Amino acid sequence: MTAHVFFAPFEGEESQESICAKTQRLFRSAGFGSLVGEDDLTAIKTHFGERGNTSYVPPAFVKVVVDEVREAGGRPCLVETSTLYRGQRSNAYDHYNLALEHGFGPQKMGCPLLFVDGLKGHQHVEVPVDLKHFRTVAVAADLTLMPSLLVVTHLTGHMLAGMGGAIKNVAMGLASRAGKLRQHSAGRPEVTDEECIACGTCARWCPEDAIEVEDVARIDYDRCIGCGECVSVCPVGAVGISWNESAEAFNEKMVEYAWGILRDKADRTGFVTFIHRTTKDCNCEGRAGEVICEDVGILASTDPVAVDQAAVDLVNEAHGGDLFAETWPDLLPEAQLAYGEEIGLGTRRYELVTL
Ligand code: SF4
Ligand code: SF4
Repeated sequence: MTAHVFFAPFEGEESQESICAKTQRLFRSAGFGSLVGEDDLTAIKTHFGERGNTSYVPPAFVKVVVDEVREAGGRPCLVETSTLYRGQRSNAYDHYNLALEHGFGPQKMGCPLLFVDGLKGHQHVEVPVDLKHFRTVAVAADLTLMPSLLVVTHLTGHMLAGMGGAIKNVAMGLASRAGKLRQHSAGRPEVTDEECIACGTCARWCPEDAIEVEDVARIDYDRCIGCGECVSVCPVGAVGISWNESAEAFNEKMVEYAWGILRDKADRTGFVTFIHRTTKDCNCEGRAGEVICEDVGILASTDPVAVDQAAVDLVNEAHGGDLFAETWPDLLPEAQLAYGEEIGLGTRRYELVTL
């Protein structure tokens, strides 16, 4: 099987108008209008960015997808879920307000903004998958009521997965809090005593109160859920992840979640991925991210594995090496692609159709 991946390359510094025009052309060239049935409630999954983050897909680009879904006869709605960790996106109320601050308000976007896992991320449906890591996956409940889905992704690196593309956007972004926890729970953070300055930041952010700080930070592994928050907030990089075999397992777990989340809309889902201001960390970081690759362009496909594979190939070509493996050694983002193909989430073989 070979998938089609449509590609709108960037030519130097692109204006907002030019990127919007390319997004519209991609949507139409990929035939995404046909994914949307008449009056379908169509979920559009993007990421509004954590407070302080500036590298999420800008609202103007997402609005092109909103407008195209409506043009195709659907009823578009932006969808999101609550995060596992403490922050501005850990419940629907605060997350909604942050979305407004970042320009994703309903009036500006021309569609509602729905939190499909409820007020506090607890509402899910157990979808059977019977795969290696999970028998069921916890899918955000209201997403299962929506027949079609557009996934708008900002390609980034990721401190736990190595890479955050379309698969991760679906797997983490459309699971309930319990589902996120199940995917994260094998990771173990470790504090390097010599580097810790005992500032207490990790303890304040830990969602499980698993950290005590005296002379240095100490983690109670009986309470730790492996969310990785302490890794991201430590100002001096004193917390790392002890992965052993679980780096691969974490990526495979995400793939199983993506498979379960998409299984009832496999023929009704499109993926739009922006290789634009690709950062070392994901958009959950509460700061402007370090850009690690030149802007490459926008991709569109109905295959999540193919669109991620094409994104990796294009950034590697632009970078002149294996960008995510060099940025996050030992995190095995390759497992997302290999296991995704193995379980039938999609194919790594694709034909790039350049517009
Ligand atoms: S100690 Fe565990 S639960 Fe607490 S922030 Fe770190 S990874 Fe998350
Ligand atoms: S945030 Fe980092 S430096 Fe501060 S107490 Fe935690 S481990 Fe130590």
